[in-house]
Order: sequence, then structure tokens, then C-alpha cells
Amino acid sequence: MRVIIIGSGIGGPIAAVALRKAGIESVVYEAHDGPGVGIGAFLGLAPNGLSVLDTLGLLDAVRATPGAHVSHLTEFLDSAGRRLGQLSDGSDQLEPRLRSLGVRRGELQAALAEAARAHGAHIEYGKRFVDCDDTGSAVIARFADGSTAEADVLIGADGLHSRVRAAIDPAAPTPRYSGMLGVGGWTSSRSVEPTPPSTGRMVFGRRGFFLYQSAPDGDVYWGVNFPHPELDRAAIAERGAATWKRELLDRYADDMPDLARILADSDTDWFLPFGLYDLADLPHWTRGRIGLIGDAAHAVPNSSGQGASMAIEDGIVLAKCLRDIPNPEEALRAFVASRRGRVDRIITEGRRRGKLKTLTNPVAVTLRDMAMRAVLWRLAKNSGHSWIFDHRVDFDAPVRT
Ligand SMILES: Cc1cc2nc3c(=O)[nH]c(=O)nc-3n(C[C@H](O)[C@H](O)[C@H](O)COP(=O)(O)OP(=O)(O)OC[C@H]3O[C@@H](n4cnc5c(N)ncnc54)[C@H](O)[C@@H]3O)c2cc1C
Repeated sequence: MRVIIIGSGIGGPIAAVALRKAGIESVVYEAHDGPGVGIGAFLGLAPNGLSVLDTLGLLDAVRATPGAHVSHLTEFLDSAGRRLGQLSDGSDQLEPRLRSLGVRRGELQAALAEAARAHGAHIEYGKRFVDCDDTGSAVIARFADGSTAEADVLIGADGLHSRVRAAIDPAAPTPRYSGMLGVGGWTSSRSVEPTPPSTGRMVFGRRGFFLYQSAPDGDVYWGVNFPHPELDRAAIAERGAATWKRELLDRYADDMPDLARILADSDTDWFLPFGLYDLADLPHWTRGRIGLIGDAAHAVPNSSGQGASMAIEDGIVLAKCLRDIPNPEEALRAFVASRRGRVDRIITEGRRRGKLKTLTNPVAVTLRDMAMRAVLWRLAKNSGHSWIFDHRVDFDAPVRT
């Protein structure tokens, strides 16, 4: 069997490595001209995603990427910096090697692409997928440069604004705007008190949410989500990074002073935000020999911190299905059946958390902060998120239709 994978973000290279381990050939086609060093800021990889990397032999390479820092504890603070509670990802008791990790997005993509190549997968850059035909016995992909490629199966790992999704179903719903913009970066400034070791801080500010963490080398990683009417990329860019920086300094001026300090010390280039979207209940993740994984199939809200880990889980489960079920169409259906329930649950949980970030009315903010103390206490006591973090995929266990 031969597989075409569209997109060399996170899910694409993972699927390629897992398919190689399953004895299946694949070629990854990526629209950009090279691996993604320098794109975006950073993201979190949770124990469930890290365990897949471990199974595939990629964990050490990811842990060794520049800037990677353990982040398995989260402190929740109100706008004045008062502690509302603390949660662990559970890895301190279970598997210390799988402690949640903050990683630079570009470094992660480059490391995964390198690993995929080292495992014998082929990646072709500068190949923008346009459309495809399923002939019943093969799939033919067409690219913007006029070239084509043929395989037994085509997988769209092409992210939130997937073209493969549109090829499966031109009437597919589009991603839903969360009501928030987000932006983040890191700074080597030492002007704030370092966070406790391996601990991220989530601050529910008066007019926006702020997370930050000091890495062991002293760099401070930060990200913000703030309520804002939807803007497209052109409108965001037109306003300019310096204007956005000023707007964010104003927005966080009345919160604990460290927040404005971190923003003030950060390079202005970081400050072009992006809309935060999610995508749930996509009617068709597959059609015939064409399937979707990662954000292309289900963009989980960024408040869940699970987007990358879901794309990683998808990649390995897809490979298991194609390995164990000879008929490609049945294999893709089995993949959907095994993934939909878990992903839907994470989307619901992420949307619930996201709503807490959009509150700006002072009364609602006070009530939220009071309720958060109780909720965090209950979650900490009952290991409330263990169903997310403790999930493990057994690569060797056979898949049945
Ligand atoms: C601000 C922000 C913060 C986030 N924080 C976290 C976090 O803390 N933890 C977490 O787990 N997740 C986080 N995520 C989500 C995470 O980044 C995504 O869920 C994840 O990258 C999805 O992986 P993917 O492989 O499906 O898609 P992507 O990583 O988006 O990769 C898609 C790839 O496809 C390529 N492509 C697109 N169109 C085409 C085409 N037509 N032809 C060829 N190639 C194409 C793209 O260039 C890209 O390389 C965050 C996202 C955002 C926006």
C-alpha cells in the first residue's frame, strides 16, 4: 500500500513515521518551501501526545529541541495575582519522562520532519495540494505547480483550513470563531520573578487571559487570549505589530504588574495576533480512499491545549488501522470510529474552558474567580483531567473492524 499525506505540520510527519513502522510507504507533500523553523511561537505537548512520540522513538529528539521546557504543573491566578488553585497533568506520579512539555512550534515541526526523513519517509516541499480524484482503485492528487501523484490512500493533514476537507465534502462546515484572538512569544528579559520550576501560570486578567512560564534558561514564554470581534489576516496585519503591542499593554495594564512587564520586554515582531477557531462535528472525515487527521478533521479549541496531541494520536491510530485492515475504505472508517468520541469530548471540554476566558464584566469575573477555586479544588482532588492525559495508544495491539 502507498499513502499520500498532505501537510508536514504535526500530524503529517507522525503519520509518516507510524506508517513506516507499520511497513507502509508514504510521501508527505507540504505547501511551504521547507520545514517550519521560525513560524509561530510555542505550544504544549501533553503526556498523551508525548507517549505516542515515545512509542515511535521520537520523544528524545523533541525533548532536545531548543527552548523545550517541562510544564507539568499549572497555577491559576486571578487578575491581582492571587492563587485560585493548582493542577498537575498527573505525570509527576505516573511517568516523569512524559511530563508536559512547552516546545517552540517551528523547532517541533523541523524535528518531526527530520525524524520522518530519518525513518525513510519522503517529504516534498513547495507542493500545494489543490484537488484529487478517487478512481475507486487509487487516488490522484493534483498540486498547484501542475504536477500529480498517485497512491492507494490520500490523507489530509493540512490543518485548520484544509483543502482536502473541501475535496471530501465541498459543503463541509467551516471553522468556528471562538470570539478571541491569541498571540504569544518569548523574551530573554529577566524583569519578572521566575515562575516555580516546571510550572506554568494562567492568569485570568480583567480583560483577557495570560499564560506565562520561565524556562530553566531564564527565558519567559508567554501567550494571551483576548476577546475581540473576528478579523481576517489582512485586517490584523494592516493594524501593525506596534499598534497591537500598545493595545495589549493597555489591556493588561490593570492586572498583576508582571504581565505588562513581560509584554513590554518582548520583541514587537511577536505581536501580530491570529484568530482562535475550532471545528467540531464535521459530518465526513473520510470519503472513499481519502481521509483527514488532526486539525483538518477536528480542530480542538486552543483552551484544551490538546490540538497537537490530538494530531499526534490521530497519526499513530491511522497507521494501525491501515496496517491491520486490508481494505483502505474500511480502514479509514475504523479510524474515524476509534477517534471521534474522544475528540468530541475534548472539544466540549475546551469550549467550556474557553468561555471562562471571554468574561470581562467585573461581576461575572468575580463570580468566575470564586467558582474557579471550588472547581480547581475538585479537579485536583479527583484527578479530573486524567481521562485526557492518561490515554495511551498501544501500537502493537491489533485493530478490528
Ligand atoms: C495560538 C495557538 C496555540 C496553540 N497551542 C497549543 C497547545 O498548547 N497545545 C496543543 O496541543 N496544540 C496547540 N495548538 C494547536 C496545534 O497547533 C494544532 O492543533 C496542530 O498544529 C494541528 O496539527 P496538524 O498537523 O493537524 O496541522 P498543522 O500543524 O496546522 O499542519 C498543517 C500543515 O499542512 C500544510 N498545508 C496546508 N495547506 C496545504 C496544502 N493545500 N497543500 C500542502 N500542504 C498544506 C501547512 O503548511 C502545515 O505545514 C495551538 C494552536 C494555536 C493557533
